[in-house]
Amino acid sequence: MDFSLSKEQKLIQQLASEFAEKYVEPVSNQIYEEKRIPEDLIKALAEYELLGIPFPEEYGGSGAGYLSYVLALEQIAKRSAGLGVTISASMLGAGAIMNFGNEGQKQKYLPPVCQGQHLASFAFTEPGTGSDPKQIESTARKEGNYFILNGTKRFISNGSYPGPLVVFARDTEINSISAFIVDKFCEGYSVSQPWNKICARGSNLVDIYLQDVKVPEENLLGERGQGFPILLTSIAFGKIGTSTCALADTLAAFEEALNYAKEKLHRGEPIAKFQAIQLKIADLAIKYELARWLCYRLGYLADTMKDWQQFAKEAALTKSCVGDNAVHAARIAMEIHGSYGLMEDYKISRIYNDAILGSQIEGVSDMQKLIVANNLLK
Ligand SMILES: Cc1cc2nc3c(=O)[nH]c(=O)nc-3n(C[C@H](O)[C@H](O)[C@H](O)COP(=O)(O)OP(=O)(O)OC[C@H]3O[C@@H](n4cnc5c(N)ncnc54)[C@H](O)[C@@H]3O)c2cc1C
Repeated sequence: MDFSLSKEQKLIQQLASEFAEKYVEPVSNQIYEEKRIPEDLIKALAEYELLGIPFPEEYGGSGAGYLSYVLALEQIAKRSAGLGVTISASMLGAGAIMNFGNEGQKQKYLPPVCQGQHLASFAFTEPGTGSDPKQIESTARKEGNYFILNGTKRFISNGSYPGPLVVFARDTEINSISAFIVDKFCEGYSVSQPWNKICARGSNLVDIYLQDVKVPEENLLGERGQGFPILLTSIAFGKIGTSTCALADTLAAFEEALNYAKEKLHRGEPIAKFQAIQLKIADLAIKYELARWLCYRLGYLADTMKDWQQFAKEAALTKSCVGDNAVHAARIAMEIHGSYGLMEDYKISRIYNDAILGSQIEGVSDMQKLIVANNLLK
């Protein structure tokens, strides 16, 4: 077993770290306050080739694999959870096209995402269903060479940005779920006001309304009626990003706590002198290492594993553990800060809110555990 990173992986990690320090850190407060990502930042990410890391070069990516994506996203999301979620959500939509699209779809939709002109979206959640996508009520009706889509999708990341939307709807003729690629802002596409989130501020989250949206037959993603397996596999790949954002929150909490413990004085000496603080710092180090190796492992498995059902189990296991772990880490870091942590002036207050996200999206932690158990018990 070799835990060392390749030269290329180290370079990408270093590049992302430098990028985040130079371009993300200076605007991280602005992202939080204004609740939007500056347009220039997405373009800069593309210039540094950080938006299509796992995708092959022929589609505008770097061909560097999912482990490299994890290494880069960790560095970026540590500085801004909002930006991290934006990238992760776009990778979820684009990843579905990469895994299930035909050649024409990949050629058309992936390069603009890698070049930062577009952000992809992925829509399964509806007002009536999140954890149980079999209950999807949006409909697709076949009419000649088109499908007509109707329905409301809830909590869709990047829904206000132009780009491809991978959307799931019940194909009424065959009474089964199919997946489609919709060009956002086509006729019949509209969005709500952005949701006012307590976490990952800056990432765009809206409801999407599809009203008689005419989707050409060639925009069917994968086979007709095969939407459910496409959904499950794509979400499994999406969990690489979601888990990495939780890893980044854990690292941010760890670093903030470490700095605070060294700087905050008690009777003239840093609070780090107290054993109770030292135990918490060690707990944070343990939590970071645990999350790090699970996420790196998931990236490695995405690059090497052939059985997608097994991969889905590993992704669920990772997200469940790393998502809950981030919440615990943020809590410990908060305790080290005492009352100061409750003040918005202190970064830990923001990290504390950001940390809850990983255990909630793309299926709550309990649902992840059910995926793991079902796989083990079948
Ligand atoms: C910032 C953010 C970004 C998001 N981005 C997207 C996106 O881009 N695309 C998208 O489609 N969605 C997105 N979502 C939605 C998110 O993925 C869903 O909210 C999530 O999957 C959980 O669904 P729910 O909120 O409907 O919870 P529910 O399904 O209502 O679950 C509520 C509770 O009931 C429990 N529960 C439900 N069913 C079962 C069951 N069968 N067995 C046991 N327990 C059960 C759950 O464990 C949970 O504790 C986003 C959400 C947020 C907050």
